[in-house]
Amino acid sequence: FFIVFEGGEGAGKSTQSVKLAAWLKLRGYEAVLTREPGATDIGMRIRSLVLDAKNGDGTDASAPVPRAEALLFAADRAQHVERVVRPALERGAVVVSDRYIDSSIAYQGSGRELGKDEVAWVSQWATGGLKPDLTVLLDVDPAQGLHRAKAGGEGDRLEQERLEYHERVRETFLGLAAADPRRYLVIPATGTPDDIAAQVREAVAERLDI
Ligand code: C5P
Repeated sequence: FFIVFEGGEGAGKSTQSVKLAAWLKLRGYEAVLTREPGATDIGMRIRSLVLDAKNGDGTDASAPVPRAEALLFAADRAQHVERVVRPALERGAVVVSDRYIDSSIAYQGSGRELGKDEVAWVSQWATGGLKPDLTVLLDVDPAQGLHRAKAGGEGDRLEQERLEYHERVRETFLGLAAADPRRYLVIPATGTPDDIAAQVREAVAERLDI
């Protein structure tokens, strides 16, 4: 069973994925907690390539161009799926991933305006078509989420993108969720972390039939 958390900056995905994986372990499941970008050695290098370049002096000269960025995230995903996700699913584990394909559709497809369908296609090819069984979208207003993420020390990098970029990302996540309500659970990221975790557990318990 493959569960993915998606959402914009400061939505609380990492907190919630940790909580869910811990709960699944308590219930006796082998839970594999993982994330994109950066779950493998190659993935870590790709993560630095894409993200550190934006931490510099504000010029984007050393950063990958949008198409290169999309391919780098797809390469990270190919490595992640083949080395981590598929082997875990094959041995019966529950995989909890912080981000997956829909992040690329939202950030590169809409944020960078490369086109949602094209970006989706690249990731489908990269993953051999592996889809999550459940995607939890933690929906947050970008102004609020950016404020939280900056308080968490990611200010320099996040300053580089305009608010409209993050608004396009949010709208795309909500659109993907609306188009596939059986796979998607949308939770407003405004409650306390414990409230949100309880909602997530309820949905997961229902789908896993526990
Ligand atoms: O989820 P996490 O905060 O680790 O993601 C790191 C950054 O990578 C995010 O700020 C997001 O803007 C960016 N990202 C992206 N495209 C993706 C995945 C992540 O731009 N496909």
